[in-house]
Amino acid sequence: MSAVEGNCFCQSVKYRVEDVEPVASVCHCGFCRRLHGSDYTTFVSVPSEKFRIMEGQEVLTSYKASDHVTTHFCSRCGTTVCRVDSRYANSSMLRGTITSPLEIEIKKQWFKDNKVPSLAE
Ligand SMILES: [Zn+2]
Ligand SMILES: [Zn+2]
Repeated sequence: MSAVEGNCFCQSVKYRVEDVEPVASVCHCGFCRRLHGSDYTTFVSVPSEKFRIMEGQEVLTSYKASDHVTTHFCSRCGTTVCRVDSRYANSSMLRGTITSPLEIEIKKQWFKDNKVPSLAE
């Protein structure tokens, strides 16, 4: 697959992933909801060694959210660009930060029972 690139809102932090087939999933759990400030989170995951910060390493900050999960976010604009789960040794890009065209099927929905009720029309 071609390279996947992305950046934070202010474009200080830029990342790139190559030579790997990313796996996309959605999570509806309360932990993700609060951590990322949205109804659900879409992750595009790759093995951690494939995730490379191309620019802005110096402004990238991390937050250890649990024993396993660390989020990495831009200290200027606050965008979370990636989340690392030490149980799986993978890095999950936040779908909204990916800038390159990426047609990817959502393979898995975690905690579907926890889904927020749909918004009224
Ligand atoms: Zn930023
Ligand atoms: Zn979750």
